[in-house]
Amino acid sequence: MHLLLFGPPGAGKGTQAKILSETLGIPHISTGEMLRQEMADGTPLGLKAKMYVDRGNLMPDDVMIGIVEHVLDSAPCANGMILDGFPRTVDQAAALKDMFTKRGLVINAVLVIEIPHELIVERLTNRAIIENRADDEPRSILNRLVVYDKNTAPVKHFYEGEGLLKHIAGIGTVEEVARRIMTAITQ
Ligand code: ADP
Repeated sequence: MHLLLFGPPGAGKGTQAKILSETLGIPHISTGEMLRQEMADGTPLGLKAKMYVDRGNLMPDDVMIGIVEHVLDSAPCANGMILDGFPRTVDQAAALKDMFTKRGLVINAVLVIEIPHELIVERLTNRAIIENRADDEPRSILNRLVVYDKNTAPVKHFYEGEGLLKHIAGIGTVEEVARRIMTAITQ
């Protein structure tokens, strides 16, 4: 099963993706986590990523598309995956569609976790204290919300057109949201 998890920063995608990954037995692929790992390791990709990620800007599409194409062909993803953080632009969504078509794969569902803006800022500010992510600094948080509305929200319309979109209310406990997701994908 190939699932896409989508939603504004702080919507709880990472938390839900981990739960889903365990429940369904398929890997969780987070492009944000991959970039943070590269940055921590100080690789050339990590050094490039640092210029974008810490300020809350998006990495160039061609770089991210190359990374995801590579992951898609890796052995652990042979039976499916939960893709979290990609696509983040309409061009990435179009490239993903091509990659899937070429390989005879289908996207089973695109789950959009929706939460109000006020809650996003509150959650990210709290996470900044716990995880010490440079992009959870107030100016970067605000920029990520602007970037989300401008570049990423239009991706929803792309998948609406494909009939794949499932809206999930992101408020409530982690377990409540997880139950809503399971209901949405088993319907
Ligand atoms: P969030 O918790 O804000 O949803 P992620 O952990 O998914 O964030 O990603 C953190 C950052 O990594 C993004 O703000 C962006 O700079 C970069 N990034 C991750 N995925 C992509 C992508 N598909 N395209 C461009 N940039 C990306």
